[in-house]
Amino acid sequence: MRKPIMAANWKMNKTLPEAAAFAQGMADVRSLSDKVETVVCPPFTCLAAVADALTAKGIAVGAQNLYPADKGAFTGEVSPEMIRSIGCVYVILGHSERRHILGESNGFINEKIKKALEHGLIPILCVGETLEERQSGKTKEVCETQLEGSLKEIPKEAAARTVVAYEPVWAIGTGVNASVQDAQETILTVRNWFVQTYGQETAAQVRIQYGGSVKPENAAEYMSQPDIDGALVGGASLEPDSFLSIVKGAL
Ligand code: PEP
Repeated sequence: MRKPIMAANWKMNKTLPEAAAFAQGMADVRSLSDKVETVVCPPFTCLAAVADALTAKGIAVGAQNLYPADKGAFTGEVSPEMIRSIGCVYVILGHSERRHILGESNGFINEKIKKALEHGLIPILCVGETLEERQSGKTKEVCETQLEGSLKEIPKEAAARTVVAYEPVWAIGTGVNASVQDAQETILTVRNWFVQTYGQETAAQVRIQYGGSVKPENAAEYMSQPDIDGALVGGASLEPDSFLSIVKGAL
């Protein structure tokens, strides 16, 4: 059985005091942890403080990026070991904002995934099509190309541990969420890619989230689908009550 995973992506939001206020206001979810895994991914500036405060409440913490090297002359970058050393478990990689605004390629994302796994971090790999790609019927092809490039040479056991977030680009931060049926259909396509690439057993283990304008009002409906194992949530994860009610959508 796959345990649902509900993850908050704060993006470039919250100062240190604001992050501390969230952590203080967020409920202790240890009583839910048999049924759902809760993850918060803050910016680097408050990662250590949020990790300290939220881990005690049964919430795992993740980074939003890493640089694929162990150490050295990479001004402004953060290594997987640095992230791991402050108690992070997850790292979001391949988010569409990094693909489209910062020009990250599947090859670069693949390097990051390898380094994350090497250091014991679990990648949350984001894939998804733009509106133009969707309208020209390329959703399946785009997701498969992103999976192939990003997971190149990743062995079965590591692939099974990786979380995939299907995030249609047109649904991110727009308030226009994908229909539950469309999300289930594309996520099934993603799972079938795992069947073809890694076999049935790995495909049955890998957790696949939906992301794109998930809110307290629609989270449970996504979670009722057979192949949707969680949500990656941006805007609606910034307030403790809103995020908690999304987490409860998985129960
Ligand atoms: C995201 O940034 O991963 C995301 C899904 O954002 P939002 O929930 O705001 O659409």
